[in-house]
Amino acid sequence: MPEPARKGERIFRGIPVSAGVCRGRVLVLGKSHATVSKREIAPAKVADEVTRLEQALAQTRQQILDVQHKVSIGMGAQEGGIFDAHLLVLEDRTLLDEVIRNIQEKRVNAEYAFHVVAEKYASTLAAIEDDYLRERATDMRDVTSRILNNLTGRQEEVDLKKIKEPCIIISYDLSPSTTAQLDKKTVLGFATDVGGKTSHTAIMARSLRIPAVVGLKHASNELETGDYALLDGFNGVIIINPTDQTLFEYGQIIRKQVTLQEKLRDIQFKPAVTLDGHRITLSANVEQPADSVEVIANGGEGVGLFRTEYLFINRETMPTEDEQYRAYQQVASALKPQPVVIRTLDLGGDKFHSQLQAPTELNPFLGWRAIRYCLQEPTIFRAQLRAILRASVEGNIKVMYPMISGVDELNQANALLDQYKAELRAEKIPFDENLEVGAMIEVPSAVMVADTLAKRLKFLSLGTNDLIQYTLAVDRMNEKVAHLYEPTHPAILRLIKSTVEAGHRHKIWVGVCGEMAGDPVLTALLLGLGVDELSAAPALVPPVKFLIRRLKMSEAKDLADFALTCESASEILIRCQALARDIAPSLFENKA
Ligand code: PEP
Ligand code: MG
Repeated sequence: MPEPARKGERIFRGIPVSAGVCRGRVLVLGKSHATVSKREIAPAKVADEVTRLEQALAQTRQQILDVQHKVSIGMGAQEGGIFDAHLLVLEDRTLLDEVIRNIQEKRVNAEYAFHVVAEKYASTLAAIEDDYLRERATDMRDVTSRILNNLTGRQEEVDLKKIKEPCIIISYDLSPSTTAQLDKKTVLGFATDVGGKTSHTAIMARSLRIPAVVGLKHASNELETGDYALLDGFNGVIIINPTDQTLFEYGQIIRKQVTLQEKLRDIQFKPAVTLDGHRITLSANVEQPADSVEVIANGGEGVGLFRTEYLFINRETMPTEDEQYRAYQQVASALKPQPVVIRTLDLGGDKFHSQLQAPTELNPFLGWRAIRYCLQEPTIFRAQLRAILRASVEGNIKVMYPMISGVDELNQANALLDQYKAELRAEKIPFDENLEVGAMIEVPSAVMVADTLAKRLKFLSLGTNDLIQYTLAVDRMNEKVAHLYEPTHPAILRLIKSTVEAGHRHKIWVGVCGEMAGDPVLTALLLGLGVDELSAAPALVPPVKFLIRRLKMSEAKDLADFALTCESASEILIRCQALARDIAPSLFENKA
């Protein structure tokens, strides 16, 4: 990797989240802050400027009515009613008259006049110690940004259909649902100003195998559509106007990758077994039924985590039981007889039913998410559990509940499962009577009561992405605290060990399906801590297997024993890196 920037180059550094290198023209989709420029208007054009404002107001009104209609149909009249407050802003004569006076008297462009006046009102409202008025400030800013977009012709939302030529997308942020829609044919790679390594956007990028970098801070403001860039998803770098020397060096990295891919192909269908004969189950994570092709192609031994929420997002209605049944049946029969662990709906956090269902909670990751949502929405849970049960005769399906924090939630979920089983029996619809039930261990309280949970379950799967964020109090989405998001933190290792011990005491297997499972640097540590199964993005299964096949279990145990005596995350990480680089150096040749 070139260091420092060569003449003519500009380098932006962020967090690498999806491996690979690509180069091409940049398409900037969403900037962090709308810049509103001031223009002087000739006296003869003032009336036109006011007309332009009126047209933008009418256009905005129509857009809000459309959104309101969609929300009312998809989510109910009450939710749709939220937009009434937005419509009121458009009818606020005091505000509008002041904007028009500004245009006429100060002879400034409409967007500038609107921005200045609306911001004055919004900041006054926001400063008042009153929740209702603060919300009105947010409404005003939302509507203002729509009006400004209409006045400036700027795209408000990511319109993926507009992408015709292959490009590298740069955006302030991309939601997991937008990322799920990216088409590899036109999106060479993407980079965002915000985000962390285990955000669902990053996970989706790895799953789609699109090179990606997040946490670039101000890149979306500093880059322009049409800039020529090289994106390095191994090291988290974007280089604008790369020199010939830089391109040459990256050519070498790419050649080494090709050689590595050949080595990985050689072991593709071989077992994940250490040099001293310890066998690990190495499965894959999927988000869509079609991903089962990737699982097979990468030699995954079944699916350790099917994130079913992607069946629920990017649409306006919930998928029906039949629709879900077909999706689960498709994956189960494609992978039969290998297991498919279907995780029940984990909506909330950073994943929402539709783009319109904005996160209204102050702390969505601590809020109405996953099993909490399902237990309060039994109609949705029922359709999903019935679909899973019905599909269970088509392959080796297991069901897993997300975000279990204590035994009551588990008991409630199991009671509903029993109720739906009884319904199916009465309807003479077949299902696997021995369907295994497991839980994700991703909330620290679940580790503390893992014994109680393990007694009632057939397996536990550590969701380290959330376990780390909840244990260390570090938002997995926030690049500003990404340096504190430490998988090798001694607290995390102790939680993993304690979960493994609880599972083994009750003679059930314990896996890891968080992103730690797909990082070859951490493979030996997890094996040494006694984990029985690893489930990673399909593309990460071969490198993890490559490492396992070069590792001795005795080395893994020594590493874990050493790590459990350490006091700092960095000390443990350095030891993990040293071992991994020592036994499988070719996996790390793309690193700076
Ligand atoms: C996890 O939290 O580790 C996990 C696998 O679930 P998700 O990333 O979907 O929250
Ligand atoms: Mg999770």
